[in-house]
Amino acid sequence: MNDYYEILGVPRTATQEEIKRAYRKLARKLHPDVAGPEAEEQFKEVGRAYEVLSNPEKRQMYDLGGESALGGNGGTGAGFGFSDIFETFFGAATGATRGPAPRGRRGQDALIRLEIDLRDAVFGVEEEIQVETAVLCGTCNGTCTRPGTSVQTCAVCGGRGSVQRVARSFLGNVMTTSPCSACGGHGTTIPDPCPECSGQGRVRTRRSIPVSVPAGVDTGNRIKLTGSGEVGPGGGPPGDLYVELRVRPHPVFARRGDDLYARVEVPMTAAALGTVLHLDTFDGPQEIDIAPGTQPEEVITLPGLGVGRLNGHGRGDLKVEVDVEVPTALDDRQRELLAELAALRGEEHAEPRLAPAANGVFSRLRDKFAGR
Ligand SMILES: [Zn+2]
Ligand SMILES: [Zn+2]
Repeated sequence: MNDYYEILGVPRTATQEEIKRAYRKLARKLHPDVAGPEAEEQFKEVGRAYEVLSNPEKRQMYDLGGESALGGNGGTGAGFGFSDIFETFFGAATGATRGPAPRGRRGQDALIRLEIDLRDAVFGVEEEIQVETAVLCGTCNGTCTRPGTSVQTCAVCGGRGSVQRVARSFLGNVMTTSPCSACGGHGTTIPDPCPECSGQGRVRTRRSIPVSVPAGVDTGNRIKLTGSGEVGPGGGPPGDLYVELRVRPHPVFARRGDDLYARVEVPMTAAALGTVLHLDTFDGPQEIDIAPGTQPEEVITLPGLGVGRLNGHGRGDLKVEVDVEVPTALDDRQRELLAELAALRGEEHAEPRLAPAANGVFSRLRDKFAGR
């Protein structure tokens, strides 16, 4: 937190004259025309500190409740605007009955992304994620006060959190109720803030959170971890943490829904004669029967070896598509054998045989697309 006294380099007992002198000295040194743009932030901070400490009323409020007593940004504090007057005429009652505002507010939700392997989406996985987050201050346990001290009832509003004022306006004299600026509307002040968290009730830290990723998740799915978000200001209850998943593409297996797809290449002779292939799957090596006469793009289904279903009931299938390789480089002996085979099959002068449309390439593409 910004300590205005520290910023100006003066003791808390400094007189107005000492504060003014300290400010002038710093402002001359830090002015952007002198110190360059790097010092601009510091220059502004010094200006804010002086704005508050040079005004006896604001300084008193600041001494009682720190920066938050001034409305968060060290701004105009006790001022009231048109909305107060407006509220007085059109809904003043609600303002008057409002109690003190609790110091602790709910923390923000957070979103973190997590990449997992396809295998983890198939079976589910226990992961550990690292998050940069606000946690309850261990020194004050979220009470914001230095251990052994406690909050004090606000002397300005008597603990109500709001103050009533008679204000002169263009509408005449009106009674306004506004949040007490001495205590920020909380009804209490912290004379001795916790040194660990500067009276915020929370500290930033890096922590690891276990995440249980269920089988069947896919890219874009979010897992909600209730209460694992940031602890709120003033040690308020934590928000929720959302873990958004991305499943890394796999070099062998593609996924469609709960089914996995793989493509194997089989030599022309093996497709004709039949063979047994060995394929490493997520469930270990599997034997795949290539029946004699297997055709290009034929799909062999291994039931239950796909992705686990998100609802916990069973798994999809593993579908293996067969790609038939036609040899491109033949030596003399191989050509001779193939020619002999062609002769035996009466295929020396192949004529086009038109397949029925239903078995044609278009329907095969359609079947593939439908995952059959
Ligand atoms: Zn603390
Ligand atoms: Zn107050």
